[in-house]
Amino acid sequence: MVDTIQDYLRSVRVQFGAAIRHTIRAEVDRLGCKRALVLSTPQQSDAACLIAQDLGSLAAGVFSKAAMHTPVDVTEEGVAHARETDADCVVAIGGGSTTGLGKAIAYRTDLPQIVIPTTYAGSEATPILGQTENAVKTTLTDPKVLPEVILYDPELVVTLPVDMTVTSALNAMAHAAEALYATGRTSETDALAQEGLRAMVQGLPGVLEAPDDLAAREATLRGAWACGTVLGQVGMALHHKLCHTLGGSFDLPHAQTHAVVLPHAIAYNARAAATELQPICDLLGGRNAGAALHQFAQRMFAPLALRDFGLKESDLDRAAELATTKPYTNPQPVTREDIRELLQAAWAGDAPK
Ligand code: NAD
Repeated sequence: MVDTIQDYLRSVRVQFGAAIRHTIRAEVDRLGCKRALVLSTPQQSDAACLIAQDLGSLAAGVFSKAAMHTPVDVTEEGVAHARETDADCVVAIGGGSTTGLGKAIAYRTDLPQIVIPTTYAGSEATPILGQTENAVKTTLTDPKVLPEVILYDPELVVTLPVDMTVTSALNAMAHAAEALYATGRTSETDALAQEGLRAMVQGLPGVLEAPDDLAAREATLRGAWACGTVLGQVGMALHHKLCHTLGGSFDLPHAQTHAVVLPHAIAYNARAAATELQPICDLLGGRNAGAALHQFAQRMFAPLALRDFGLKESDLDRAAELATTKPYTNPQPVTREDIRELLQAAWAGDAPK
């Protein structure tokens, strides 16, 4: 079970360091495995082949078809490939999409997983799996999708383009920001959320200045791990529900959507949870956590408007409707009218209200 962060740390081996990916053979060996199937997106198949090279005789093959939102048909093909190649573990190298594929294969086969994250999404640190079938995205939580090993190698994040770096970092910060007022929060999750936010706020400017600065990249990866870990420990609220709706029903890109929505969702909830959100003001300055995040996003040159990602103004009524049909716990009461207003501002790129 992984009911607390201490339980989690006992069940998952987490390693950080430049070039740590080259220990992959020893990690597979440590799991008692002999045939590792390497997973990636088509765009990162070269990186996957290099991992297979490091694995040498312990490589069962490379499956490079991971895609956003973990489509079930891709997972089924991956499971078939794992069976055909007699794989006894999977190694996922990539962002949340590849990690999702590894988790989905593990969910169906119980194969152990090693994840080598190359974005800050944080999926590797959660027992949560989102999957898409017939254009419907569903989410499950099961400890068996938690990877056994995570290798955070800053050298691999150097290739993440600067715009993706910023949106992915804000995606990570969203997990920690919502954890501050989440149901199920504890003093442990509060501390880890604050640590994750601090690592991102302090590390990201250095990464923007010098994207290949390995120390700054490692600091942000440590932040991503902390933010992802709290995501796995507490219940999320308005921000994650809105992003789930926008990604699942309007096909908006994951990290960019999180980046745009975050200041708006936090400003909305600051009306009821200003004290819980105070650590964000302490870190960034200012008296409203939402406004402080908006200014930080501007300083980091983050995207600010959902309309830049293909959402139409005529979609906003339906988005507000979809995001408010199922009730959930949130500090500030959620009404269709208020969410419609929030979405209008996020769509247009206005400052949060
Ligand atoms: P992603 O994994 O889809 O990556 C986006 C693109 O960037 C891909 O083409 C990928 O190959 C490329 N890329 C990744 N790292 C790179 C690097 N270092 N250099 C160059 N290119 C790189 O994007 P993401 O934002 O990491 O993940 C989004 C997915 O993760 C969504 O499906 C989301 O639902 C899921 N997610 C799940 C959880 C969870 O706990 N279950 C948490 C966060 C995100």
